[in-house]
Amino acid sequence: MGFSWLNKGSSDKAKKWSFRALLLLGAISVIIMLPGLAQHPFFEDLERKTFDWRASLEVDELAAQPSDNIVLLNFDDNSFTLYEDEYGTWPWSRSVSADLIRWLNDEAHVRNIAFDLMFTFSRREKGIYGAGGDKLLVEAFQNYDNVYTSINFDNNHDQLARLGKSPTQADLENLDKGSITLKTEGHTPYFLSSYSWLRLDNYRKILPGLMTVPERLATVNHIRDRDGVSRTNPLFFILDWEKEGPCSDDNPNAASATCTETTPQEMIFPYLGFRVFLDVVVPESLRHQPITVTRGNRLNIGNISIPLMLDGRYLVHWYNTSGDQQHYKNEIARIEKILATQGKTLSVKEKSQLTQTLVNTYNKLDPQAPPIPYRQIPVWHVLNAITGKAIPEEVRELKDTLNNKIVFVGTTSVSTFDIKTTPVHPTIPGVVMQATIFDNLQQHDHFIERASQTTNVIYSLLLWLGCVLCIVYTRSVWIGVAGVGVCFVWYVLAAFWVYLEYDLWVSIAAPLASGVVVTVLTYVVRYLSRTQDFERTYKLATTDAMTGLKNHRYFQEHLANAVARSERGTETCGLIMVDIDFFKKFNDTYGHQAGDRVLKCVAAKLEKSVRRGDLVARYGGEEMAVVLADVDQAAALQVAQKLVSAIADEAYPIAENVYKHVTISVGVAMHPTHGTTPAELIGTADEGLYRAKEAGRNRVGALPGDSNDTDNANDATTSNDKTPTGSSTT
Ligand code: GH3
Ligand code: MG
Ligand code: MG
Repeated sequence: MGFSWLNKGSSDKAKKWSFRALLLLGAISVIIMLPGLAQHPFFEDLERKTFDWRASLEVDELAAQPSDNIVLLNFDDNSFTLYEDEYGTWPWSRSVSADLIRWLNDEAHVRNIAFDLMFTFSRREKGIYGAGGDKLLVEAFQNYDNVYTSINFDNNHDQLARLGKSPTQADLENLDKGSITLKTEGHTPYFLSSYSWLRLDNYRKILPGLMTVPERLATVNHIRDRDGVSRTNPLFFILDWEKEGPCSDDNPNAASATCTETTPQEMIFPYLGFRVFLDVVVPESLRHQPITVTRGNRLNIGNISIPLMLDGRYLVHWYNTSGDQQHYKNEIARIEKILATQGKTLSVKEKSQLTQTLVNTYNKLDPQAPPIPYRQIPVWHVLNAITGKAIPEEVRELKDTLNNKIVFVGTTSVSTFDIKTTPVHPTIPGVVMQATIFDNLQQHDHFIERASQTTNVIYSLLLWLGCVLCIVYTRSVWIGVAGVGVCFVWYVLAAFWVYLEYDLWVSIAAPLASGVVVTVLTYVVRYLSRTQDFERTYKLATTDAMTGLKNHRYFQEHLANAVARSERGTETCGLIMVDIDFFKKFNDTYGHQAGDRVLKCVAAKLEKSVRRGDLVARYGGEEMAVVLADVDQAAALQVAQKLVSAIADEAYPIAENVYKHVTISVGVAMHPTHGTTPAELIGTADEGLYRAKEAGRNRVGALPGDSNDTDNANDATTSNDKTPTGSSTT
């Protein structure tokens, strides 16, 4: 049988552990919250903005360069102005496009031509070549197998059906010949199962003759983020359609010759830039193989592995918008080569002057052109060459520029509204998106990847660790918060660096937000633990370790306060001094350990016997003091008597099954009757205690001026006098 109920430390330990558990729970819930937090639209929007900073910075830093095998042929505002009289308003006669195809191939020997223009039915068919422009265009597509054009998937089935422009069964079957095949590794990619915007069930009908070259058609569908900015685009769209055919055997009407039924079909159609990549860059042997989709959402074509985001979109890697500088560099290199054959060189100054001249010339040619990474040629340059308006040198120059190039043709005129907002520029023509995706794919070491959730959580944990360390190892809150700020700045710089160096898009918004939460939590925890520390220290400083009673110092303070209150008349106060009788003998007889146990028991018993507002303190040795709040003299004497009886009535354990009795003597003093200061009160109570001892112990000492000692009802004082051990119980 122990005395564990005396062990006051246990509740502290429990507090400490529940505190730790709370901390752990908090940390776990923040970790669980983080991925969800990151997916919240608010943080997604913020995150995209942080992506834009990174993309713009990279573009400004000229970190990624466009290839110089791409040229844009622009239907720009100047071209429209110059040629409107001849071709009428946009869209121009199809014969113009037919002529471009012929001239670009036969005269300029370009490698490929990709029209980011959709050739729907033309409204009128007269141009400089007269009627039949549609026919000429179709023939050009059939004659030259390096020409690609656009198709647009949509869901406007009903509206188009009313206009008679919905695709027919024959159209669909024909178009299907141009579809590509995805091969999954025995799984269903998330983007195929969950993203409806990738799937459409109709397309805008194009010039019927172009349906004869389905393998050179590609989508120009465009995707914007919630804020209207184009950061991504799928490399393919899926057209869901129904194939009509004769009934299968399990159809009840199968016997009938006229029985037909439809089966759902899926047509995966590449984006224009992706189509050109598949035909121009991918080796012939792999060109018609299915494209493997890995579990990590990558498209594998030969040794080229293209990362897609979870939702199937391709994240565009932008090049610097002053990519023309690359072109100027090439031009200067060309001029230097020519000069070298004549034994001449260009000085640095001459080089810079020449660059400026080239830039000025280019700007004069098309001042409206937005800053884009590729060499642009306004279509009127080519039209002038075709119609013989250009001088031979200009034509030669033009042919040189276009030779063996992949030419993306599109409108860059603001008035045709094919303008996109991208992370790097508010107005970029759609054709630049096509060219850029193509260029990303052909360079195929310029893919940006969005970090997985695991990677983001690891990065966030590092940030949190930094924040927590800053808070734990700093005293001042201001310095701590400044440290956290430094961690945030470092995190952002690291995220930028990882983007620039490794093309990895690590989340910034949600980790920083969670960093704020972690910082606040850490401060709350620090505050709580400091409060706890303070409480512990305060308790240590005011408590008597052995008995658990308040110590002498606390008693003095408490008594002074009680006296002060009594002085103000708000509350009366009384003091009882307690001393255990014959305690020296008790120790001598049973040992100090037994004495200690009894002392603890007496202390506990005294505490139990007084009211809540009263204080029991260890005065010193085996003496204790009781400060009574709000009592008159009669009540104080009553309490004193009650204490004496309560202690005498109980037997206290000193060893296994050995119980001993002890008695106490007490003295009482009242404020202000027996003293106006704590010292006077203590003195008076001590005198009373002395009188109680004199009178035979186990009693309340008489008050000053009171001749009769308050006799203890229990008249065993004499026996106690002689036998300090009291009666024993076993
Ligand atoms: P009385 O008060 O009845 O006159 O006799 P007494 O023997 O109690 O008187 P005295 O004040 O001379 O002795 C007090 C004793 O109390 C001395 C010491 O052995 C004992 N004592 C004081 N503090 C402790 C303590 O913390 N533990 C134990 N076991 N004994 C203590
Ligand atoms: Mg004593
Ligand atoms: Mg004593």
